[in-house]
Amino acid sequence: MNEDSRKPERIRMVDYQIAARGVRDERVLTVMRELPRHLFVPEPYRAAAYQDSPLPIGQGQTISQPYIVARMTELLEISPEDRVLEIGTGSGYQAAILGRLAREVVTIERIPEVADQAKKNLEHLGILNVQVEVTDGTEGYPLGAPYNAILVTASTPEVPRPLMDQLADGGRLVAPVGSRDLQDLVRLIRKGEQFTRESHGGVVFVPLLGKYGWKL
Ligand code: SAH
Repeated sequence: MNEDSRKPERIRMVDYQIAARGVRDERVLTVMRELPRHLFVPEPYRAAAYQDSPLPIGQGQTISQPYIVARMTELLEISPEDRVLEIGTGSGYQAAILGRLAREVVTIERIPEVADQAKKNLEHLGILNVQVEVTDGTEGYPLGAPYNAILVTASTPEVPRPLMDQLADGGRLVAPVGSRDLQDLVRLIRKGEQFTRESHGGVVFVPLLGKYGWKL
């Protein structure tokens, strides 16, 4: 089976799971019609790759539900010149989408085995503008700061302060903030030293473990 044999499934995924629920950003929809999500999940789950759910990727971690990926990406309002930071690389799927929309992406993962697989997935697709780093992402990645957009793809009790500090003026930060069981999808927009905070509905993510997230 070649990679495009599953394009019809992706088009249905975008139409029925994503556009139908209100995601309108054409750039996001186009990238998600193109990018082969099935290549980011382990072999046993590939058949289910275009269903409306998260899937296991090993080490107790998951690739997020396609609709949530689309919604978070839309909220980041990424321009082609933007530099983006993602915390929680997982499979690399979200990072690949960000890479197609932005100039460059740094993505941080705390589990080395997970990061290695993500690197392979990105390499296989020839995605060269996504840099994967293994460290505690709750501290951000000061070397590449400031970032025009920051996405946290694991749940956190509060937005880690270092991430706010690494956001550029005018930048957007999206994170699932709340308890271990249920979070609110929060967007912060930075204007100088002021941050406006919006709430975009209930979500459930695996925990962000680290210094400024959930304690290990
Ligand atoms: N964005 C991913 C899904 C992320 S799942 C995708 O597209 O597939 C959340 C990931 O965050 C997990 O892989 C987990 O290991 C990682 N994680 C948890 N705490 C972290 C931390 N402090 N720093 C970096 N990564 C972390």
